[in-house]
Amino acid sequence: MLKGKTAVVTGSTSGIGLGIALALARQGMNIVLNGFGEVPRAQIEALGVRAGYHGADMSRPAEIEAMMAYADAEFGGCDVLVNNAGIQHVAAVEEFPTERWDAIIAINLTSAFHTTRLALPGMKQRGWGRIINLASVHGLVASAQKSAYVAAKHGLVGFTKAVALETATTPVTVNAICPGWVLTPLVQKQVDARAAAENVSNDEAKRRLLAEKQPSLQFTTPEQLGELTVFLCSDAASNVRGQAWSLDGGWTAQ
Ligand code: NAD
Repeated sequence: MLKGKTAVVTGSTSGIGLGIALALARQGMNIVLNGFGEVPRAQIEALGVRAGYHGADMSRPAEIEAMMAYADAEFGGCDVLVNNAGIQHVAAVEEFPTERWDAIIAINLTSAFHTTRLALPGMKQRGWGRIINLASVHGLVASAQKSAYVAAKHGLVGFTKAVALETATTPVTVNAICPGWVLTPLVQKQVDARAAAENVSNDEAKRRLLAEKQPSLQFTTPEQLGELTVFLCSDAASNVRGQAWSLDGGWTAQ
C-alpha cells in the first residue's frame, strides 16, 4: 500500500533518518532526502524507487517551505512525513551556549511544526497520511547535561499528541518514536567524549554508556527504527494515534 507514495525524511543523509528512508524505499516509496553531507541518492535508487534531495536547513523556516514546495512540485506531495533531523549538545545549564539552545529547539522541535503545517493540507486532500516524529527516550525522561535536547524532545512528544487529536477523525495519523541509544554519528561523539574523559577504549566507553541507561545492553538499530516506521505506516496502525512508541532496550521501564 506504500508503493508509489512519497516520503519526506528530514535528516536522512545519516544514521536513523537514512535507516528509515531505506526501509520505506524497500516498500516501494519514493523518497525526498534532506540533510547535510554526502547524499545517499544511489542507495535509495538501487531499490527501484525515485530519490530526490533538498538541502533545506531545518533551523530556517523559509528553507523548510522551499523543501515542502519541492516535494509537491516534483513528487505530487508528501504522503509520509518523518521529522527526524536533530542535533545534540551536552553541557550543564549554566554553561549551555545560548546559540546551541536556540539551534536545538529550532532543529529538533520547531522544524516539525513547519513541516507538519505545510504537509497536512495535502494529506487531508489526498485522503491519507502519516506523520512520524523522531523524539527520544528524552521525550519521556531526562538526563543531566541535556536540558535543551530534553526540552525539545518533550516538546515534540507534546506536539505529536496535540496534532494527533486535531487529526483524530481524519485518515492522517501522527505518532512519535522514542529510541534509546542508537550507535549513529550523534552518539559516537558522546562515546568519544566518554572514552577521553574516563581514559578507556572505545568499546569500554560504549559498554559503560549502555550499562548506565539501557538494560538490554544493546544499541537499538536504524534498521529496527525503519521497520517500526513501516508498521506505523501500515493499515494495522491506522488507529495508533498520538503515541510515543519506545524502542529503548528497557530504558524507560526503569
Ligand atoms: P545523525 O547525526 O546521524 O543524523 C542527523 C541527521 O540530521 C543528518 O542527516 C544531518 O545532516 C541532519 N541534520 C542536522 N542538522 C540539520 C539541519 N539543521 N537541517 C537539516 N538536517 C540536519 O543523528 P541520529 O542519531 O541519526 O539522529 C536522528 C534523530 O534521532 C534525531 O532527531 C535524534 O535526536 C534522534 N535520536 C537519536 C538517538 C541516538 O541514540 N542516536 C536516540 C534517540 C533519538
